[in-house]
Amino acid sequence: MEKGMYKIAWCPLCEQGWVVIVKDKQTSQLYAYCTECETEWNDPAKGIKEESCLPFGAFGQFVPPTFEEISKSDWYKYIKESDNEQQTD
Ligand SMILES: [Zn+2]
Repeated sequence: MEKGMYKIAWCPLCEQGWVVIVKDKQTSQLYAYCTECETEWNDPAKGIKEESCLPFGAFGQFVPPTFEEISKSDWYKYIKESDNEQQTD
């Protein structure tokens, strides 16, 4: 887990990692991404569920979004906690 990532859910697919908010490098679109199995979701309204995930590799490279970018998006209300501490895993 990198610094400053915003967790929104425990991954329902692999059940081994957090789903965090990331930003597509090319389009700047925010989407959700599992740090373990790399599953992606692009619609906050549909939630982080097995049925609503995207086909593998729908997005390309991503960069960490800023808090400001997240706060303007629909993902904002889904944040569970911001991870600014090192995890011992
Ligand atoms: Zn996963």
